[in-house]
Amino acid sequence: MSVLEGSRAVGRPDGTDDLTRTPVRALRGVRLPDGTLGTVVLDGALVGHVAPTGAPAGPGAAASKCGAGENQDGAELDATGWRVLPAAAEPHAHLDKALTADRDAAPGGNDLVGAIEQWHRVRASVDALDVTERALASLDRYLSRGVTAVRTHVDVPADGDPLRFVDALLDVRDRVADVMTLQVCLLASSATPTDVLHEAARHGVDVLGGCPHLAPEPGAETTRLLDVAERHGLPVDLHTDEQTGLDGLDVVDLAAQVIDRGLVQRVTASHVVRLGSLTPERLAPTLDLVARAGLGLVTLPITNLYLQGWDATHLVPRGIAPLRQILDAGITLAAGADNLRDPFNPAGRADPFETTSLLMTAGHLGPDDALAAVTSGARSVLGLAPAGLAAGDAADLVLVPDVDLGDVLAGATDARVVVRGGTVVADTRVRRTTALHRTGALATAPGPGTTSTGTHRSTPSQPTTTSTR
Ligand SMILES: [Zn+2]
Repeated sequence: MSVLEGSRAVGRPDGTDDLTRTPVRALRGVRLPDGTLGTVVLDGALVGHVAPTGAPAGPGAAASKCGAGENQDGAELDATGWRVLPAAAEPHAHLDKALTADRDAAPGGNDLVGAIEQWHRVRASVDALDVTERALASLDRYLSRGVTAVRTHVDVPADGDPLRFVDALLDVRDRVADVMTLQVCLLASSATPTDVLHEAARHGVDVLGGCPHLAPEPGAETTRLLDVAERHGLPVDLHTDEQTGLDGLDVVDLAAQVIDRGLVQRVTASHVVRLGSLTPERLAPTLDLVARAGLGLVTLPITNLYLQGWDATHLVPRGIAPLRQILDAGITLAAGADNLRDPFNPAGRADPFETTSLLMTAGHLGPDDALAAVTSGARSVLGLAPAGLAAGDAADLVLVPDVDLGDVLAGATDARVVVRGGTVVADTRVRRTTALHRTGALATAPGPGTTSTGTHRSTPSQPTTTSTR
């Protein structure tokens, strides 16, 4: 085999190339997470090895190191001008609610109770086809942004077939399976009959969830949900403490029950907003208990910044868990966006770098921890094998323009080439033009459209995205 066979360039971030569906054998000349340039050699759906530029000299050298089983038929891509990062995972979405923000919207916005009321009004006219269409449209956005795995929670309507949304999303899960991972988590309410929970398990939900913090008796609801999960051996992901007040602390009860039962399946507490209201004296033993129970925590800054604090007259709470202290306690931390343009969050871009931006500004994490929360932390909570640049990692990667990592985490770049399991599954290029550049005044200024070899244009225009599903 010629070492140049299948060799091509990724192309410019503002170009017209489209690599969607291209199997990848190697990425040459790419900026690695440590800031150096190197070559990433794939081994089927996994990362084979990463070599610094200069070790394998010249075009095609990386391919010459391919062993049996590596992507011999894939393209060897010259990725000069691009930076490679692990693909992201969205640990907490609501695809059945997504993209309904403009239906029956309250003029002034919603707190959590108002959002639930709006959603219940909207939900009355939602059928399975509606769920399917909005779920697929949302997944297309996530995938184009570099998200290759999504966990969606799904409602159980009290009227009609209680599992019609579940069944619709299980069907979507199967339809997208060759390009992205979708996990379906039941979102039971305390009014959902227990036999419906068992039926959902038999239908094939991946995770059992609920919202004990909204139940009349939160402890009893947690017990009921864990009973069902234990019976079916399902992972658990509960909406937990999604309030800023300190009337109770459901995550303590959840952790204690997990320890008492000796549960072996993965258990996750999502939101945990109340932890952000605790004094250090109360927070430390609480996090110690959560760590001993092995719970993963999911923070969802954009939605909780929106939903919390409406009743405050001053010193408005942020609605975000104490992220630094959670990490310092050795607890797995994942971050996501939660709702996407629905009654619970009228905004949102399905973009992990929108989340990293908020983790840094509102959550006070540094860039490395922010990136980890939407990548390795999120995959860990989802129970997925690591993705990234280490040998043996899943080859779920995202190429972004080779600008400073801070620009990427701030969400300043839109061009992305997304690889899942060694194959390109989405390709977005963005062309920018401003009058400032026409004057030549910014000819040397770095910016989102800058490449190491190309010119730069500014001001976002509509990106062009091609993705597969
Ligand atoms: Zn949620």
